[in-house]
Amino acid sequence: MTVYYRLDAANLDLEIINNAGTLIRRGELVAFPTETVYGLGADAFNSEAVKRIFAAKGRKPDNPLIVHVSSIEQVEELVDGIPPEARLLMERFWPGPLTLVMQALSRVPDEVRAGGETVGVRMPDHPVARALIQQAGPLAAPSANLSGRPSPTTAEHVRKDLDGRIAAVLDAGATGLGIESTVLQVTSKPFRILRPGGITREELQSVLPADIGLEESEARTDRYPHYQTRAQVLIISGPGELEELSHRYRGKGKSIGFVVHKPNDYRHILDEVDQVYQLEGDPELAVRSLYEILRDVDQRNIDILWFESYPEQGMGSVLMDRVRKAGRRE
Ligand code: AMP
Ligand code: MG
Repeated sequence: MTVYYRLDAANLDLEIINNAGTLIRRGELVAFPTETVYGLGADAFNSEAVKRIFAAKGRKPDNPLIVHVSSIEQVEELVDGIPPEARLLMERFWPGPLTLVMQALSRVPDEVRAGGETVGVRMPDHPVARALIQQAGPLAAPSANLSGRPSPTTAEHVRKDLDGRIAAVLDAGATGLGIESTVLQVTSKPFRILRPGGITREELQSVLPADIGLEESEARTDRYPHYQTRAQVLIISGPGELEELSHRYRGKGKSIGFVVHKPNDYRHILDEVDQVYQLEGDPELAVRSLYEILRDVDQRNIDILWFESYPEQGMGSVLMDRVRKAGRRE
């Protein structure tokens, strides 16, 4: 049975944090809010506990886990030296949505590293997450969803995916950012963005010395079909394109959803679709609702999802990365 605890992030109930810490130390799994999405935490130094994460999520064992810390001392217990530029990034972006992949010490369990030599580490910026880590030590924590489902931005999403599979959920309401951390490998130069996320490429570049360079890795580690919806996703760059599509699909008996942020440009088409989702024009705000929409699309059995594209820069390109992944078929 899963226990649900409601928490006020501004006024933490330490008894609840204590209970959750006890569960973690016993090798149990606890879902907790971070500023990105909800995480599913286990004691990062307990192999058996970490194995339970893979079982609960149905996650492939060769997909490594991010370790969440609340201090630099904890980082030093996990990695074999912090590269100087990584320190710059920590100073600027921690606590925050940036995961740094560094050389792991051998005491980091194989399950966390998925058999590799490196470990991804991040310091979350959420009072509940920080308090739980202070109580229970570093937590290995992927997103608290079933593998292949959109990341959870509310405790209700966690309940839908993992109820009965984990010990407890700390519910402090919706997460702030709504998108996962950026994963950056800093073990060799140029540094490699393994997953775009809450800290944009432009922000990283502004802190790094010019000679370091950033490479967006084609061989991204998130090779697994994340965030997939059963709907076919069609990215729309303007009203003309949609005119054509709407002719093509009319009368075919398919249910159509349309995610739009400039609805005035599409007035005449909005009536023809089964479900309209309006997003904010600012991609920083739009990412907050994206996963909720993807879950709703599946719940409504929508066949085709039209998505009005955002300019590919800053958070716009992060958002579009997730939309493309949602529509990927393999
Ligand atoms: P999630 O499991 O949803 O929290 O996502 C974690 C992401 O970080 C996945 O894409 C992992 O493949 C990636 N990741 C975590 N640790 C490492 C690592 N040591 N090396 C490369 N990628 C990693
Ligand atoms: Mg995930």
